[in-house]
Amino acid sequence: ILSLRDVEKTFAGHCAVDGVSLDVARGEVVAVIGPSGSGKSTMLRCINLLEVPDRGTITVDGTDLDTSGTVSARDLTQLRRRVGMVFQSFNLFPHMTVLRNISLPQERVLGRSRDEADRRSMELLERVGLQQKADAYPAKCSGGQQQRVAIARALALDPEIMLFDEPTSALDPELGLEVLAVMRQLADTGMTMIVVTHEIHFAATVADRLIVMADGRILEQGPPQQVLDDPQHARTRTFLSAIK
Ligand code: ATP
Ligand code: MG
Repeated sequence: ILSLRDVEKTFAGHCAVDGVSLDVARGEVVAVIGPSGSGKSTMLRCINLLEVPDRGTITVDGTDLDTSGTVSARDLTQLRRRVGMVFQSFNLFPHMTVLRNISLPQERVLGRSRDEADRRSMELLERVGLQQKADAYPAKCSGGQQQRVAIARALALDPEIMLFDEPTSALDPELGLEVLAVMRQLADTGMTMIVVTHEIHFAATVADRLIVMADGRILEQGPPQQVLDDPQHARTRTFLSAIK
C-alpha cells in the first residue's frame, strides 16, 4: 500500500534521510526505532509531504506522489486525508471542544454535514474511550486523553495509513499506556501503521516488523523478536541497551 524508493532529504548539507527504500503491505504494522537524529521523523514527514524529498519516489496505494517540487494543493489534501499522522505534541485546537476538533476537519476536507461529522466524531470518541469528554476543551483533558483525541481526529478522515511519531514520549508512563492500548486496538482492526517509538514492548507485541534507523538509513529490519533478540549490528545492540 506504501512504497518508498531511494528517498533522500538533505537539510543544509546534512543528509537527514539518505536513500531509504521501504515497502509496507496493507494491514502491516511497522515500528521504527533508532538514535536521536537518525532521520525517523524526517522519513515519516516525507511520506505525507510535510517535507518534500530531494530525491526518490513515494507511492501510496498505486499513486505516485510527485516529489519533484510542484504538488497541487488538491493532491496534498487528498494525500493528507489518506495518510493520517499523530505527533508527539497533540496539536489540538485549544479554542475548540474535543468534538469540534474532530468534526471540523471532516466538514472541511470531506464535505460532511455538521450532523454527520458530529455523529462520526462521537463514534470515534467512543472507540478511544472518551465520549464523556466531547464537550470539554483540550486544556481540561490529560495528555493521554488529548493524544487519544488526536488519534480520533486523524481517524475521522478515514485514512488508509496512519503514521505515529513518538506518540507517547511526552506522556507519563500510565497515560502512555492508554494511548498504546488505543493503538493496539487500531492495529487489530487491520489499519496499516508506521510507528516511531521507543516503546519496545509495544514494538515486540504489536508490530509485524521492526526497523532500526541510523544516520538516515535503515540499518536493519525484521520480525521484532528477531531484531531485539539477535541484532545484527553493533550499533543496534548499543542503542537497544541504552533504551531497555
Ligand atoms: P529524534 O529521535 O530526536 O526525534 P529523529 O530520528 O526523528 O530524531 P529527525 O528529526 O528526522 O531525527 O532529524 C534527522 C536530522 O535532520 C537531524 O540531524 C536533524 O537535526 C535534521 N533536521 C530535521 N529537521 C530539520 C529541519 N527542518 N531543518 C534542518 N535540519 C533538520
Ligand atoms: Mg523524531
